[in-house]
Amino acid sequence: MLRAGLGYDSHRLLPGRPLKLGGVEIPSPLGTVGHSDADVVLHAVVDAMLGAAGLGDIGEWFPDTDPHWHGADSAIFVRETLNRLNEKGYQVHQVDVIILAETPRLGPYKESIRRRLAELLGLPLDRVNIKAKTSEGMGAIGRSEGIACQALVTIVSRT
Ligand code: MG
Repeated sequence: MLRAGLGYDSHRLLPGRPLKLGGVEIPSPLGTVGHSDADVVLHAVVDAMLGAAGLGDIGEWFPDTDPHWHGADSAIFVRETLNRLNEKGYQVHQVDVIILAETPRLGPYKESIRRRLAELLGLPLDRVNIKAKTSEGMGAIGRSEGIACQALVTIVSRT
């Protein structure tokens, strides 16, 4: 049986902060602010994985009020979520991601983000897709005040 989950995340951008997207460090004058490493791509993917399995959302499993997750590498969230899906008899089948960012331009980094995400999820490359879009200068993202990400994950039951 095939199931699908939708994920979304956004974080504010500030000068002098590191920027990690999909587990890849991106050179940028602006970086994301958050409790963990503020990786919007991995957070959206985790929420999509949890949604597909009917397991709630990232805030329930990895609350930002928990000092344990302060500065955490979001790859840990992906691994722990994979374990929870495995325990329920699911495996991730495919992921599609849209990153919304005005700054920096992400075209040159899409392939490395794709490879890292495939590695984290244990998927062949052709089941991982990364799209990067700007907001054409409109709204908060268009003013480079933040970065957002949408993800769709499909999972299959192993039984
Ligand atoms: Mg987040």
